[in-house]
Amino acid sequence: MAFDCDLFVIGGGSGGVRAARMAAATGASVQLAEESRMGGTCVIRGCVPKKLMVFASSFRELPSQARAYGWDIPEGHFDWQAFRSRLHTELDRLEGVYRRLLGGSGVTIHDSRAKLVDPHEVELADGRRISAKHILIATGGRPERPDLPGAALGIGSDDVFNFEKLPERLLIVGGGFIACEMACILQGLGVRVTQFYRGAQILRGFDEEARGLVAEAMRASGINLRVGTNIAAMGPKGALEDGFDAPVSELQLETRRVPATAGPCAVRSTTGELCEVDHVLFATGRRPNSDGIGLEELGIGIGRRGQIEVNEYSQTAVPSVYAIGDVTDRVNLTPVAIREGMAFVDTVFHGRPTPVDHDLIPMAVFTQPELGSVGLTEEAARDLGPIEVYATSFRPMRSAFAGSEARVLMKLIVCADTRRVLGCHIVAPEAGEMIQLAAIAVKMGATKEDFDRTCAVHPTMAEELVTMRSPVRR
Ligand code: NDP
Repeated sequence: MAFDCDLFVIGGGSGGVRAARMAAATGASVQLAEESRMGGTCVIRGCVPKKLMVFASSFRELPSQARAYGWDIPEGHFDWQAFRSRLHTELDRLEGVYRRLLGGSGVTIHDSRAKLVDPHEVELADGRRISAKHILIATGGRPERPDLPGAALGIGSDDVFNFEKLPERLLIVGGGFIACEMACILQGLGVRVTQFYRGAQILRGFDEEARGLVAEAMRASGINLRVGTNIAAMGPKGALEDGFDAPVSELQLETRRVPATAGPCAVRSTTGELCEVDHVLFATGRRPNSDGIGLEELGIGIGRRGQIEVNEYSQTAVPSVYAIGDVTDRVNLTPVAIREGMAFVDTVFHGRPTPVDHDLIPMAVFTQPELGSVGLTEEAARDLGPIEVYATSFRPMRSAFAGSEARVLMKLIVCADTRRVLGCHIVAPEAGEMIQLAAIAVKMGATKEDFDRTCAVHPTMAEELVTMRSPVRR
């Protein structure tokens, strides 16, 4: 049977674009549909603008540090509008790069929503139908808000990059990657940040000691981090005076017909506190974009969290349809989506069935300081057998000289039997850069003795990873 193309990709984010380009490089005819901006979450409303904001925010402490080193530098102030304008110019440029890369690879682009209508056919928003031998769904995810009266008043992480002006007071809800990163960024830019996390400690899933140090640093930077706390009720500004702090009437809040446009909010916490803030930012997780693209109709399995169910080759229950990236909710990280896209191309277009390796994926949380992590946490490793823990926490030279009490953490989890390094956890400025390199050794199966026989680079923070001689715990 003749198809209009060999591959139709739905979604122009990191995973979809990489798969489309790699497939086209094999000589396949490829088409791709994207309903929003090319580049997807990572480029347009995630990793890239976030990292630029991390850089912007990190300059705050530089004048005082520089003065301690003898520089005559005044305090200065941050101009959000100037930064935002440059930020969006850069995002436009990157979107253009993505388009050119696709075009240059011979991929036909449709600026349109697309949905599946058949195992081998998609329909564009204008009703045009295109048949394809293979279809790849790479539609990503979107921020999810809690089911809470008044939640429509809040904003999601996508909205942060579009603030007309920075809020003076911001409440962030959540304790994961986005909540913690945004809290550090915005506090650094001069916003007074309060963060509510419902659990006992932020960054669930990361090493306990590392999470503790990040939380301590966040509090030291002025973030009002409240654990064991959530929003009990929220309403528009003024709701406090209107008796909002009396027994909260959910009916009343609902009948206020909270406007879809976000704005100043009054909030009552589960611990009984009342506050007013300029915005409430929900960083309470993300949901796969699997709705309304014709999956159920074709019998493609969708899991409880809305994720497309796939096998180890990213293939759905319909053999011609594959899915990669956040829409499959496996490990929701850009480099993982890209690898899933490349494994798909190897499997389908090179005839080399390639399962995706999701083991020992290094991660970085771009808090200030950053948290870099690969492998098992101390807690998870201890459950599996005898371990040795090597850890050191100290004031790094650069900031200590300037009088800062900030501490860093270097930590290795070692299997007592095999001597393999099972996990490495770093809390420090640039921990993301450090963990990338440490992850190579961990992925190669390096032992503690391999680390030990590696000569230190002096004076650095990371040299501690190869100079820790005695375990602090077993
Ligand atoms: P996460 O899953 O990391 O965190 C969600 C947070 O919201 C958790 O603290 C969770 O609490 C809390 N939460 C969930 N539901 C509610 C609720 N109803 N009320 C109050 N709190 C709630 O999601 P994020 O949105 O932060 O990030 C999504 C994903 O994006 C990440 O998992 C990561 O894969 C990726 N990402 C990666 C980054 C990086 O690599 N640096 C940066 C940003 C995102 P609890 O812990 O109790 O479940």
